[in-house]
Amino acid sequence: MGGHNTDFDALIIGAGFAGLYQLHLLRDRLGLSVRVIEAQDGIGGTWQANRYPGARCDSESHSYCYFFCEEIYRAWEWSERYPGQEEILRYLDFVAEKLDLARDISLGVKVTGARYDESGNRWIVETDRGETLSCTWLITAVGCLSSANIPDIPGLSDFAGDWYHTGQWPREGVDLSGKRVGQIGTGSTGIQAAPAIAGEAAHLTVFQRTANYSVPARNAPLDETRKRYFKDHFEEIRAIVRRTPNGHPFEIAQRKVFDVDDDERRRLYEQAWETGGLRFRAVFQDLLASEESNATAAAFIKEKIRDIVRDPRKARILSDIDHPYAAKRPPIDTEYFETFNRDNVDLVDLREEPIIRITEGGILTAKAEYPLDVIVFATGFDAMTGPLLRLGLTGRDGVRLDETWAAGPVTYLGLQIPGFPNLFTVTGPGSPSVLVNLPIGIEQHVEWIADCIAFMREHGVTRIEPRMEAALAWGAHVEEAAGRTLLPQVPHSWYLGANIPGKPRVFMPYTGGMGRYRAICDDIAERGYPGFNLDDTPQPAPEARDFDAPVYAPGV
Ligand code: NAP
Repeated sequence: MGGHNTDFDALIIGAGFAGLYQLHLLRDRLGLSVRVIEAQDGIGGTWQANRYPGARCDSESHSYCYFFCEEIYRAWEWSERYPGQEEILRYLDFVAEKLDLARDISLGVKVTGARYDESGNRWIVETDRGETLSCTWLITAVGCLSSANIPDIPGLSDFAGDWYHTGQWPREGVDLSGKRVGQIGTGSTGIQAAPAIAGEAAHLTVFQRTANYSVPARNAPLDETRKRYFKDHFEEIRAIVRRTPNGHPFEIAQRKVFDVDDDERRRLYEQAWETGGLRFRAVFQDLLASEESNATAAAFIKEKIRDIVRDPRKARILSDIDHPYAAKRPPIDTEYFETFNRDNVDLVDLREEPIIRITEGGILTAKAEYPLDVIVFATGFDAMTGPLLRLGLTGRDGVRLDETWAAGPVTYLGLQIPGFPNLFTVTGPGSPSVLVNLPIGIEQHVEWIADCIAFMREHGVTRIEPRMEAALAWGAHVEEAAGRTLLPQVPHSWYLGANIPGKPRVFMPYTGGMGRYRAICDDIAERGYPGFNLDDTPQPAPEARDFDAPVYAPGV
């Protein structure tokens, strides 16, 4: 660990998009002593961990970046419509170098526990290097999807081949040439990975539990005109990403599905399919508000799948989708469904033939044994709460986070937790988080936290903690906002925690939209932090009207 100092104003856990910008603001704007602790060997967070074949961002590159500094925005040039994993790491290295961040980041150091010491009003943080550090403000920048879910399938330890989780992919890569690969999982990751694996391996078997929608990404190199356009329109693009519900660089259409006749609707869907990517979801305003409206998009995509996939059995399994379009995170792809037309790709429907066990030689289902050299788990994450719970946080009065969250996460604005003073959670549960193009959500959080700390110093406040009633009111609002959409209706959604056995079913991300969320957070800060205790002084509870206006974020 660089330097001998063990006492800091602020410690930040994680050196992804969030941790890097938080370090810059606290150190360079507020003049605090700050250290970032990062468990991985390099910066970049999710992009350091997710090195699986085909890993690429689903947000368009000119919006998947920082907007706080026009000079940085203009100095960087993306090469493709969507940035690949390696290019994102290069971008973050470039930013880190420009802002001279590396000297305050400890790489390869894991936080093993952190407890709030009431008498000293400090956080005491332990690491796997045996150090004890302390700080006034502890900021978690650990991401929403950094705790891999490796399902407990019997027999994994008997498997004679190699196995990998996509979110813990080896840094040196994996040579799949000549191998028989089995991939479990067809979420956003699996849908990106399968075409890339099929192109490299001798044979790929995809094990699908729940069929999924996907829309072509239409990735392509950016030509000089586009690159110039993005640079010349920085302010306009920034205004759009900050205004739109999902932080994407395009508006959601105002029209509703049944505002147009069948022919026009078909034409609009075809056009959106050609445009590709998450823009498809923005073609109508009410796709996530009305089952009837959604069914038109669902039928359109299912028809496309059946058109693309030549083998009728595979086409049936892939298009037999049991939930509304985009009510789970909608994947986008490069030749995903086309991959099933390759001679070296098979598809197993786990609803028809569940996995019994993993054997020495492969995967045994209720119908057959599939011989494999490599198993790829594209099985997702213990999302949102997982990365926080594994930090071993203990708040006031010795209360552990896993105890206080036993029935599900309780936060105020997704930013703070009752009982955990001076702890801030970037993109925590209850914030828009995973429903937003993440750098946009992250910038807002990081700036709000820095402003809050600046306010505390200016006003001589040493401790901030949300009131329980404010957190419960916020939780009720998050639930109510979700209830206006189709999202909570999918029983197997990870938004609800349903992918992890035993995890409480609570709809975690805020569906009210980024613009609205930003306005609520700004308003709370401007009014002197209603809903928080500042030192021992309770600020008024937030009133229902503070965040209870009708909300519906069409694009979530
Ligand atoms: P995911 O969406 O949770 O998908 C996991 C897949 O594994 C699902 O198909 C799931 O089936 C299956 N699965 C899980 N446990 C299983 C088991 N025991 N047996 C058989 N199948 C099992 O995870 P993900 O694809 O890694 O994506 C997670 C999130 O990461 C995305 O939603 C997105 O937010 C983010 N992501 C973003 C990008 C990007 O921007 N480029 C790329 C990848 C991921 P069920 O559906 O039946 O549970």
